[in-house]
Amino acid sequence: MVLWSASPEALVEALRAEGLRRAYLVMDPGSCELRASHPCLESIATALRADRRDYRAHEGCFFEIGQTSGHLLGAFVHMTRRGQAAGGVRFWSYDTVEDFVRDGLRLSRGMGQKCSLAGLWWGGGKGVMARVPGSDHRDPDLRREVYRDYGRFISDLRGCYVTAEDVGTTTDDMAEIFRTTRHTTCIPAELGGSGNPSVLTATGVVVAMEAALEDTGMGTLAGKTVAMQGMGNVSTYMIRDLLARKVKRIVGSDIDERAIEAIRRLHEQDPVHARLVQPGDMSILAEPCDILVPNATGAVLNPATIPTIAGRVVCGAANNQLEQSDRDAAALRERGILYVPDFLANRMGIVNCANEQYGVIDNDPAIASHLERETPTGIFQRCLEVFGRARESGRTTAEEAELLADELAQELHPIWGHRGQLIIDALVRQGWDRG
Ligand code: NAD
Repeated sequence: MVLWSASPEALVEALRAEGLRRAYLVMDPGSCELRASHPCLESIATALRADRRDYRAHEGCFFEIGQTSGHLLGAFVHMTRRGQAAGGVRFWSYDTVEDFVRDGLRLSRGMGQKCSLAGLWWGGGKGVMARVPGSDHRDPDLRREVYRDYGRFISDLRGCYVTAEDVGTTTDDMAEIFRTTRHTTCIPAELGGSGNPSVLTATGVVVAMEAALEDTGMGTLAGKTVAMQGMGNVSTYMIRDLLARKVKRIVGSDIDERAIEAIRRLHEQDPVHARLVQPGDMSILAEPCDILVPNATGAVLNPATIPTIAGRVVCGAANNQLEQSDRDAAALRERGILYVPDFLANRMGIVNCANEQYGVIDNDPAIASHLERETPTGIFQRCLEVFGRARESGRTTAEEAELLADELAQELHPIWGHRGQLIIDALVRQGWDRG
């Protein structure tokens, strides 16, 4: 069977049929060849070797069948030159192994780009867990098993990947992971972690908006109109920040009635208009505004929506806003819209939890510096740097941000060097897959 196009459950069955619980694909650091741990992964390896979109010589892709849950668990390590691969774990539905693997590949590279642009000493990683069709992924007992399994999986990867929270994963889930591994960040505040990152994420995106307004000569946020898709966690804090900066009007949409009602309750006296929309309704993107803020889901900037955008700046928290990066970034530029790449603007989530092992300080200067205008690696200056480079080169802001991020990702950790690769080498040498 060609596992690449089969379901995640088929991969689990194929591994079981071979008497395996684990498997990997790693890049041989000497030959730069992709190697599969077992012949049954060969169709996946072949697809990756031919891929030009998501596979970028990732150092390692690790798969395990959860010890007690039987779920397919994945850990993707893009590059560890700047440090251990860092990135959240998502518990999601995937139709095919291809979808599962592509999500891990794409998101792990994206996390590395975010870390390197932020000047963090972390590499790019991502965790992916496949929901099993027919099982209730909301069931607390099932979640406990799955997340504890994930922690055990991560422990045995010996720290080449450090996990964190992501979509589909809650604070309670992170507490479960923390029971079975130390290789995680984003643990609850009561267990010594950094707590809810949304407050800082919101402020970081607002700083990126300010950089975009400065670059376009549009002045400050005062008096501006903002159209916002999604009125969840990040938006709740962002609205507060924007009102403090005296924006004229905020128009937002959400598909969840509770989110809309919460915003309406909070802002009865403010110029905030919250609209309930049907899933798939993208009319908020066509709302007349100065700044369009995608704060809901990815892939909302595409050939159907870009021609309708009425703002001059697009800057939001949602990950992977461009459906197809090159095509859609070029279309935005052609329309004279300044696009702030999401991984440039929304770094504060990872900044908040990245260094939580170094202790907790109120108004932590190591975190606050990312929001200060003068910090060379802060959000404001990095945005101006990327906009300036794009103007000079004629490339899009998305391309320039990626190029800069890839350049910075090559820097070696000043103390630990390329230790993540040494860990992966040891896992392979010592037969991790037979454990
Ligand atoms: P959230 O789930 O609290 O809020 C997202 C909101 O968008 C929800 O209320 C949801 O109902 C709504 N939504 C979904 N589809 C929609 C649609 N088509 N139209 C309108 N509304 C829609 O998530 P959040 O924590 O606020 O994060 C927002 C985005 O930012 C997500 O894409 C997340 O991945 C990204 N992000 C968040 C953080 C963070 O610190 N929370 C950090 C980095 C990136």
